[in-house]
Amino acid sequence: MPADPVTDLLTFIDSSPSPWHAGANLAARLGDAGFAERRETDSWDIRPGGRYLVRRDESSLIAVAVGQRPSEGPIRIVGAHTDSPGLRVKPGRAREGDGMQRLGVEVYGGPILATFADRDLTLAGRVILRGADGTDASRLFHHPTPICRIPNLAIHMNRTVNDEGLKLSPHDHLPLQFGDEAPGMDALRAWLGEALGVAPERVRAWELGAVDTQAPTRYGRRQEFIAAPRLDNLASCHAGLEAMRHAQPDSGLAILAVFDHEEVGSESFKGAASSFLPDVLGRIARALDMPLERQLPRSWLLSADMTHARNPAFPWAYEEEDAPAVNAGPAVKINAKQRYASDAVGSAWFARLCEQAGVPCQHYVHRVDLPCGTTIGPMAATRLGVRTVDVGNPMWAMHSIREAAGAEDHAAMIAVLRTFYDEPGAADG
Ligand SMILES: [Zn+2]
Repeated sequence: MPADPVTDLLTFIDSSPSPWHAGANLAARLGDAGFAERRETDSWDIRPGGRYLVRRDESSLIAVAVGQRPSEGPIRIVGAHTDSPGLRVKPGRAREGDGMQRLGVEVYGGPILATFADRDLTLAGRVILRGADGTDASRLFHHPTPICRIPNLAIHMNRTVNDEGLKLSPHDHLPLQFGDEAPGMDALRAWLGEALGVAPERVRAWELGAVDTQAPTRYGRRQEFIAAPRLDNLASCHAGLEAMRHAQPDSGLAILAVFDHEEVGSESFKGAASSFLPDVLGRIARALDMPLERQLPRSWLLSADMTHARNPAFPWAYEEEDAPAVNAGPAVKINAKQRYASDAVGSAWFARLCEQAGVPCQHYVHRVDLPCGTTIGPMAATRLGVRTVDVGNPMWAMHSIREAAGAEDHAAMIAVLRTFYDEPGAADG
């Protein structure tokens, strides 16, 4: 683990403005920790004690540390997601009118739209470029300085904004101010070509999000809080990474599985509802002659995703007994309707892991008369048939362009995940 995991987390988030960047950064860091990449299209050479990583597309990734005795003992999986809600730029030309060019956007997942107004936005994601040889290749893209904006309507024309909140129509109000009018010009394609140093006609397609240029930071009297974009759920990806770097299982497998598309329901060829994790597990089990059907029933999946912290400004939003405080440890997330996968056995087991790691444990239950969010936990549990516990660190302003959390909880989560990977027995029966 780096000397200061929080500083490293903020660096990781800053350099991961899109799920494709997150996938690339995770792969590079795992590579540095000795994980050898295996491609799904190749045949695999897998050995006891080996460390491997597999990517599906660029934004979903599975890292596996194989135990010395892989056919004995449980499989310990930490799951998380690489994507965050936001605005995605449409493929068409910029809208022109009133002397202004604006980039049309689609809403990805459930962002707090009002938080995207009046921010110094840039574009980040991936661009598909046509090469000189006629083949297409994906290139990561992150422009370092502000390039677009959603200016608010002045209060003089919106007198009720402080009483009723800022209401933004995705179609009319969210298109990103991108430049002054240049009639007939495919402005974004031309600008992307220039930024990438290629002719505009080589820019074939893109998946680009509008992201904040403000760097993540600490704040508070003791610098005990952090503010950053994408804490949900890059903080859990980073905690899983830090634990995985040290995983040296004696038996079974230790796995970190991070997926794209959680914020839009996980149903895609690389999402948590896809065949990715079962496929990788099946291939490893066949390569090592593991009795998977006997090992899975004693295995665990820890679905790590951020949860809601108590916010003293909005006491009506939760019951105090059921909402965790920041800087007071990770929380087990519980929902009787299985929006979170934790059950009593899993909750007690996670609390024991926290005890072993020397960190406090809390719990979260959503206010019963409000609809609860969900995670990859129930989805992956359904696909794999593995007992799953949904856990997460408490945070404020989930799905804002700039979220906040406690600085001290991050090291606590890393400690629990490390204990999980090291625990010899895991589940019985
Ligand atoms: Zn999440």
